[in-house]
Amino acid sequence: MPRFFITVFGCQMNKLDGELLEGLFVERGWDAAESARDADVVVFLGCSVRQHAEDRLLSRVGRLKFLKRKRPQMVVAVGGCIAQVRREEILKRLPFVDLVVGPGSLLRLPELSEALLAGAKRPVCCYERLDKEFDGHRRPKGGLSAFLRVMRGCSRACAYCVVPRARGPAVSRPPDAILSEAQKLADAGVKEIVLIGQDVSAYRFGDVDFPRLLQLVAQIEGPKRFGFVTSHPLSVSTRLFEVMADNPRISRYLHMPAQSGSDRILRLMRRGYSADHYIQTVQTARSIVGDLEVASDFIVGFPTETEKDFAATLKLLHHCAFINSFIFKYSPRPYTLAAKMEDDVPSSVKKERNLRLLEAQSEVSLQRKKKLLGKTVAVLVEGRDKKSQRLRGRTFNNHIVVFDGSATVGDVVSVKIETVTPLTAFGKVEEDAR
Ligand code: SAH
Ligand code: SF4
Repeated sequence: MPRFFITVFGCQMNKLDGELLEGLFVERGWDAAESARDADVVVFLGCSVRQHAEDRLLSRVGRLKFLKRKRPQMVVAVGGCIAQVRREEILKRLPFVDLVVGPGSLLRLPELSEALLAGAKRPVCCYERLDKEFDGHRRPKGGLSAFLRVMRGCSRACAYCVVPRARGPAVSRPPDAILSEAQKLADAGVKEIVLIGQDVSAYRFGDVDFPRLLQLVAQIEGPKRFGFVTSHPLSVSTRLFEVMADNPRISRYLHMPAQSGSDRILRLMRRGYSADHYIQTVQTARSIVGDLEVASDFIVGFPTETEKDFAATLKLLHHCAFINSFIFKYSPRPYTLAAKMEDDVPSSVKKERNLRLLEAQSEVSLQRKKKLLGKTVAVLVEGRDKKSQRLRGRTFNNHIVVFDGSATVGDVVSVKIETVTPLTAFGKVEEDAR
């Protein structure tokens, strides 16, 4: 049997694509290899959202050069967003790459690999948009938590973002397909289902919008928790918050990137909302969904960003009291509107703003965690903490909890919180409550 080895870099989308691809290879009779060394085809799925992500992936692929020299028959494939956006560069920089496959063509990757192993001419590039059929091939494996894709691509046009170019416009999957996949995941024993999309709350298929879809999925028996990521601030609604509030199995967590707190920068980014509108949306969400935690993404050092703009971002972060923020230094991307602007914030300033924002977030995160002190919270048990080997899990609003006591993975237990750090709450299982 030929053997495959898949390495994934990047977001949930790429991870899910990796899982689907693995299923396709297995379906065609392939075996999983232990490492690249004993594989007939080595696949790298990579991200293109920032230069740094691209460089990391390409340097990993570069390390295969010597192995490839020894075994020229082996197929080296690069797939995912990076393959769509950087096709020429990949082949120029890494001439031993045999197969470049865009995110919409992954369905064809196993078949193309077989053709190459049988002697077809190399290299091959493939960019068809076959993504619709791709998800239908999923064979749920079980496990504690699973992603479920509800849509592909993105129809927004944020000035800095390459995703619409890499994955095309938003295409929502039919609700029937999503519900039957969710049912299969539940039947396989999955405890948490996370609906994913670039702008997941913009989902719409016929009359079914995202709040309705979430309501339908979250009726499925079995899983203990249903989450969703990521939401653009303009695609959430009061109805979505009401659906969240109505069903205790829907997680009380909203990942809704603000990107900046400066109206001027938000306009340049083409985000379509003001800082006030964002803050108002967080307030509405919190007033409807009890115990809600909100997380954000920020880009620092967007072209022309001044100290005053940055101060507005710090202010918004404090005001919204995020549980967590993912902070990125602006990186110009090909084919984007912002790439036409001069990348004029020096990298030392980007670095400094990044650190200051991280520090501010850490302070805010600690304040959010302190609210848990002395309280008893419901925790979905996920396994053992790598460092301390104590039990580990997450609350329904996504606080990480490390705790003592006896509990089984996949159970929801009551934990009394005794100490906290910005990232983690520590405690022990409340025996009486069980
Ligand atoms: N679809 C999601 C995530 C997109 S990419 C969303 O819209 O929320 C994840 C994050 O990477 C973005 O939220 C943004 O903060 C960051 N990002 C995207 N393009 C970037 C760029 N060119 N430079 C730096 N960060 C970027
Ligand atoms: Fe990119 Fe904006 Fe779409 Fe998110 S919403 S994927 S940041 S274009």
